[in-house]
Amino acid sequence: MTDGRHFESAAEVNLFRQWGADVVGQTLCPEVYLAREMGACYAGIYLVVNYGEGVVKPWEHRELEEIFFAAAPAFGRIVLKALGRVTLDDDCGCADLRKPTLLRPENTGKRPL
Ligand SMILES: [Zn+2]
Repeated sequence: MTDGRHFESAAEVNLFRQWGADVVGQTLCPEVYLAREMGACYAGIYLVVNYGEGVVKPWEHRELEEIFFAAAPAFGRIVLKALGRVTLDDDCGCADLRKPTLLRPENTGKRPL
């Protein structure tokens, strides 16, 4: 996983390859950290759309845009089905996994907003 502000570079892709990675991307990690800090439930679905930088050929933004737009209805159906199966009254334990963070007022000594 690379920092989500940019696509991974060819050098990063090469490093992950040396570490044995099969898939490289820029989503998941920031969201997971934030979910844990909040004690929120989190799940993700991801679409692998292209080879990493420097693996095969440079990708075109338009190619990825077409793939994402074509996949959007199916992803929407998956998300809606998943949400329909979630039971909010179950104690899944995610709140117990909450991590200390400076984002929480009790850790800053400041009053909550
Ligand atoms: Zn949960």
